[in-house]
This record gives sequence, structure tokens and C-alpha cells, in this order.
Amino acid sequence: MPSLAIIGNGYSAAVCVYHLIKSGFPSQEITVFGKGAFGHGQAYGTLNPDFRLNVRAEIMRIDPDHPDDFPEWAKANLDDPDAHNDAGSFYRRSDFARYMTAKMTALAETHPIHHRDETVSSIAFDGQWMVTSDDGEARFDLLILATGNPPPALRFELDPHLSPFLTTNPWQGDWTGKLDPAADIAIIGGGLTAMDAIASLEAMKHQGSVTIISPKGLLPPPQLDWVETPDLDWPEPQSALALYRFMANAMAKGDWLDRPTQDCFENLRKGVSPAWRGLPKDEKLKLLRHFGWLWQLLRYRASPQTVMSQKRLSTADQLTLIKGRVVSITPSSSDRGTAKPLHLTLSSGDTLAADHAIIATGAGQDPLIKAMGDNKTLRLEAQQLMVDESLRMIDNNGQAYATGFALGPPTVFSRGDVVGATTIAGEAKLIAETITHQIGVR
Ligand SMILES: Cc1cc2nc3c(=O)[nH]c(=O)nc-3n(C[C@H](O)[C@H](O)[C@H](O)COP(=O)(O)OP(=O)(O)OC[C@H]3O[C@@H](n4cnc5c(N)ncnc54)[C@H](O)[C@@H]3O)c2cc1C
Repeated sequence: MPSLAIIGNGYSAAVCVYHLIKSGFPSQEITVFGKGAFGHGQAYGTLNPDFRLNVRAEIMRIDPDHPDDFPEWAKANLDDPDAHNDAGSFYRRSDFARYMTAKMTALAETHPIHHRDETVSSIAFDGQWMVTSDDGEARFDLLILATGNPPPALRFELDPHLSPFLTTNPWQGDWTGKLDPAADIAIIGGGLTAMDAIASLEAMKHQGSVTIISPKGLLPPPQLDWVETPDLDWPEPQSALALYRFMANAMAKGDWLDRPTQDCFENLRKGVSPAWRGLPKDEKLKLLRHFGWLWQLLRYRASPQTVMSQKRLSTADQLTLIKGRVVSITPSSSDRGTAKPLHLTLSSGDTLAADHAIIATGAGQDPLIKAMGDNKTLRLEAQQLMVDESLRMIDNNGQAYATGFALGPPTVFSRGDVVGATTIAGEAKLIAETITHQIGVR
């Protein structure tokens, strides 16, 4: 039987293991690489009780054959009255991690895998996959890349002396206990990570000011109790403009706080990935340049609890939202007449002093994928790996590897809207079925 390495140990890796075993792949041939608890990853590996799933429980599905598995587990195992509201049940991300542990532990009792608590620094291919990790080199016949979301990155260098005043990976959520309750906080970025930070600061009754600097000066709307509507008849758009026009015409002309508007958007999401995949690379880049921000804003809506925290902080006059981009963070000098350690400069030339800054700018570049591009194992486009319709990675000559696959966040440029938990589970099922068919165990 062929050996298989999964690089990354988050949700994507866990659902790959689940679907591989369900499809008949021998578990003892699977080795998962990654530090920390299996199945948690950057997304759910937090102990912060104020970080919630941004979708209701029914939308978190690891197996289409058991759509109610997580909501039923949550009802039986969680005591979290604050999870429930008119839009559904939005549980803590740390509790979703507990669910993943429960699933993976039960599976391992009958189907144990190897888990190597190591980071992989490089991968090359010579007919087999050569994986270099903290513990040296190992060879595998099959490989699945599931490295997920690299921590946020800025476009400018940070002075290392500033690190005590900066939170550069806010997802872990362990920064809250280290803050002075009176500190004036700057949050760089205005997406779901910023909203998590607000929820946490509000819950801990933070006394200082909170300033969010976001390029469009907007924050995510709340999730409503949107419902599924019948599929739309999608065209095959060949340009960014054609795709945008189709979506703009199909959208209900309403407020984001009206349910039909969200029904309509969620319906469009069902067909957007196949349409995206049909676009040439330059048209994809055009779409991202002009409308990427709008997509991010509407696609990544926040849990109602998080939006309530934001409202309460605004009502208390603690929250300020600035439209702009931070272009540098430097130490404050005494001649600026401020006792605050951080001096933020915006592209407009405006400045801001803060005691602490939280970097909430979205996922950065994956160092392993960059290394695989540099050593010519992969062809990168827009700094991202490419995959074919079966999720096989594309090599430097533009050919798909027969034995190398990828899924989840690193495949967004190729695949479209494939970062939600349920979509990732569908991609994992596709890889598992392709592999087991290929090696003849089905
Ligand atoms: C903060 C956050 C919250 C989210 N919340 C939701 C939500 O509520 N609902 C939803 O549907 N989706 C959510 N998502 C989307 C999320 O991308 C997916 O749901 C899914 O969890 C992604 O799993 P993953 O394993 O691909 O990535 P990750 O969660 O990023 O995990 C990847 C893992 O691989 C490890 N790794 C990376 N590189 C290497 C390497 N070279 N060697 C070894 N290990 C490596 C990392 O350390 C990490 O543990 C969220 C994403 C983030 C970042």
C-alpha cells in the first residue's frame, strides 16, 4: 500500500483523514505533520471564549452524509446559552475544536494514524515526495498539502524592539490577558479578526480606546437567519466584468440587514466558484483588484454576538473606525510629546499614537508554498499554488502531479470560495475518492 503524508494538522488535514478512512484507505499508511492538537489549526485552536464561529452550527459539516452531526454533538455536550439567537446557534470556536478532538479520537481507536508534531520546511519530488521536517527527511508515495491560513503579515518591516507592544498572531487569542486594561489599542484591518478582537476587549471590560484602521472604513455585517433558495442558472462568464455584472444583476436590491439580501448572496455563492474557475488568470486578478474588498466584506459576515459587542463599544464611545491604510509603525520619540510607545502613520499622512497594536490584516504568505515555488516543485500564480479539477497540484511545467494534492485556503486562487468548513470537507471527500480509486481500494 502507498504511504501518504498530509502536511498541516488543522481542520483540512482532519477531514482528509476522515474521508480517506471512510473511502477505505489504510490508516496506518497516513502520517500527519504539524504542531499541536490534531484538527484545531489556526482557525479553531484558540482558548479565547469570545471567539465564536461566524456561521451557525448546521453550516459546519464534516460529512455531507451526516449534516446534523455537529449541532447534535453541541446540544449533547455544550452548555453555552449565549450561543443562541435569532440567526441560529453560533458556538465558540474552541468548542468546535473539542468536537473535532472527539471525532478524531473516536476514529483513531479503530483507525490509528501517525501524527508527527513537527513543522515541514521543504518538499521536493523525484518520483516520491521528499518531506523535510524538524526531524530530518522522510519519503512518501502520496502527499496532500493542507497548510491552511498563515498568520497575518504586514507590507512593511516591523522594528523588533516593538514586539512587546504588538500582537502579530491574534487568532490564538492569548493576547487579551497580557494587556493593560487602560491601554489605547489600534487594530489594523477591519475584517472578522478585528471583530473577534473587539468582542474580546468588550467582554473583558477594556477601559482604553479602540481604534480600527481599515482601507474602506467598513466593518462586516452580521449573519442573519438566511435560507437556501433554488439554484440560479449561471452563465459561463469569460471576463471579470461579465461575472461581476451577473452577480450585481442577480442581487436583491436591499439592505444587508434584510434577510432576502443575504438569501440572494448565499445563493450566488453556490455558483461563484465554478464561474471563477473558468476565468483566465488576468481576469481573476482584475476581479480581485476591483471587487475583492466587497466580496470579503459580504462573504465574511460576523456572528450576531460579535456585532453586538461592536455596538456596545461604539455606544460607550470607545470605538473609532478610521478609513485608511497603515504604512508604518515606529517607536514614539519623546519630541512627539506622547507617552505612548507606538507611532502609526497612515497613507494619508495622518498619525496615531497607541499603547498596543493588533495586526488583523488577514492571512499572509505560506513559507512552505513559497519554498516549493522557489525550488521549482510548484508553479505559483499570484504567489499561490495551482490545482486541477481533481485538486492535483500543478508542477513547474504546468502538468498535474498524479500523486500530489492540495485543499483549503492555499487553493483559493485556483478553486474560488473554498475556505469554509463544509466546502473544505467536500474537497477532502473528492481527494479521498480520487486517491482510493487511483490505488484500487474502492
Ligand atoms: C481565525 C479563523 C476563524 C475561522 N472561522 C471559521 C468559521 O467559523 N467557520 C468556517 O466555516 N470557517 C472558518 N474559518 C475558515 C478556515 O479556513 C476553515 O474553516 C478551516 O478551518 C481551515 O483549516 P486548515 O486546516 O486548512 O487551516 P488552519 O486552521 O490554518 O490549520 C492549518 C494547520 O497546519 C499547520 N501548518 C501550516 N504549515 C505547516 C507546515 N509547513 N508544517 C506543518 N504544519 C503546518 C498550521 O500550524 C495549522 O495548525 C476560519 C479561519 C480562521 C483563520
